[in-house]
Amino acid sequence: MHQDVQKILLTEEEIKDRVQQLGRQISEDYRGESILVVGILKGAMIFLADLVRHLEIPTFFDFMAVSSYGSSTMSSGAVRILKDLDKSIEGKNVIIVEDIVDTGLTLSYLVDNLRAREPATIKVCTLLDKPDRRTVDVTIDYNGFTIPDEFVVGYGLDFNERYRNLPYIAVLKPEIYKG
Ligand code: 5GP
Repeated sequence: MHQDVQKILLTEEEIKDRVQQLGRQISEDYRGESILVVGILKGAMIFLADLVRHLEIPTFFDFMAVSSYGSSTMSSGAVRILKDLDKSIEGKNVIIVEDIVDTGLTLSYLVDNLRAREPATIKVCTLLDKPDRRTVDVTIDYNGFTIPDEFVVGYGLDFNERYRNLPYIAVLKPEIYKG
């Protein structure tokens, strides 16, 4: 275990099993069709990379980057596109792949923004759901794990751009968050 970690919330094994299940479920739901996976950088990159290897349907990728918490652990509420999609999504089956849904502000903005571009269908897949702090109503079609209201890192999620490479989801020691 990393020296800055207080506790591991989800182990490598638990994540691996659940990601495989999600991949199978998505493959069944979209049988006979193709999908465009829209990964939200940077947090969703590791989840996305593992998830797509369990998809048994034609899969295309695109990526977006949006501003989120910056260097603090509190949501500012404002969402800004830092990197937009490369191509049109009109008529495509889009699945937004997120790392975590917290207040729901980021996802709500993304769904509205992408829906306006007239995809055939749009669904949401998130590795983690933290429903305790939800301020806007968002529909999550595929959810890996529901977790309590704690700031987590690892498996793509960062604190001040660190810890994304941890293979598990963990809570850091309080003194680390205080900086
Ligand atoms: P929301 O807009 O739903 O409040 O927040 C979504 C974004 O906030 C996520 O994509 C993620 O970047 C960040 N976020 C929310 N909760 C956590 C957390 O527990 N850990 C980390 N590392 N990021 C979080």
